Amino acid sequence: MNIIDSGFSLEIRRIRNSIERSNRKDFVTTYTEREYLNGKTANERVLILRTRGCSWSYHSGCSMCGFWEDTNPNIKGEDIEKQVDEFLQMYPKGDVLKVFTSGSFLDPLEIPKEKQATILKKFEDSYDFVIIETRPEHVNKSIEMINKYAGKIQVAIGLESTNPKVLKYSINKNYTFEDYKRAALLLHENGISVRTYVLLKPPFLTEREAIEDSVNTIKDVIPYSDIISLNPLNVQKGTYVEYLYKSGRFRPPFLWSVIEVLIRTKNEEVPVVSLITGAGKKRGAHNGHTCDGKVSEAIRKYSETWDYSYIEKLDCQCKLDWENFKNAESKISFPIGEFL
Ligand SMILES: [Zn+2]
Repeated sequence: MNIIDSGFSLEIRRIRNSIERSNRKDFVTTYTEREYLNGKTANERVLILRTRGCSWSYHSGCSMCGFWEDTNPNIKGEDIEKQVDEFLQMYPKGDVLKVFTSGSFLDPLEIPKEKQATILKKFEDSYDFVIIETRPEHVNKSIEMINKYAGKIQVAIGLESTNPKVLKYSINKNYTFEDYKRAALLLHENGISVRTYVLLKPPFLTEREAIEDSVNTIKDVIPYSDIISLNPLNVQKGTYVEYLYKSGRFRPPFLWSVIEVLIRTKNEEVPVVSLITGAGKKRGAHNGHTCDGKVSEAIRKYSETWDYSYIEKLDCQCKLDWENFKNAESKISFPIGEFL
């Protein structure tokens, strides 16, 4: 892998700024999914709100994040509340609601503080359990607004990796494992459930390094998490990763790698699930073989049940190709110092 210079941040921004942003004011999309949550298979409704986007993206952003395309710089708090009202008219009730904003729900620049409170109340009145996402820097100032929903709310944080070099040189996350820990501990002190996202295969890591990084990260975050989502990188439009992908320098992880990470992090306390975006597709995690459908389906079943038997016995002739790929890649890449 190559360690890149301090131009990384600027390059991410330059590439991202080349994509056109939205001028729409409606919510981005809604769909359903299932996963193992709070001890059972949960039917979840997902809502993606359209906001001005992640504040970090206004400075630089993360190397793999392509949510910028859905954002509209002119969206105000009242527009977001209107999206929520429209959504609740269509889907007024349910068990679990996952709210994504392409940024941080708790960022006051993205959703003004008083609107956060109003919107959250509307969600909590309508759904039994609500999941919101945020960067850790916004947790401290919002804790009093969210702690009254303890037991009915989960806060998801996209830490991605606990390796400081991966966070800085590969993802450009602009926060640290320490920042995440502070936020997660504060949430737990207030009885609020924590979800941690782990990214499988950030750029510049070989397949083998990526597996090790995710395994280490999951083991590191287990004490701070109530659920862990393993997200294999999918190549999104207008990202630095897409630039690498188009020039033949990035391949999304194999589904076998997803399975290896899941099996190696088997534990009694915290479920590790993986709802894969673009599974089996070129830009998503894939084996590149006829088994892609079968293997993706097995990971989906596992993620709904936390039952390892769906993935432990999987096999295919292409598993050997994956082993060979990992070995060959390790031999031809040039390790620069102790990256991992
Ligand atoms: Zn296969």
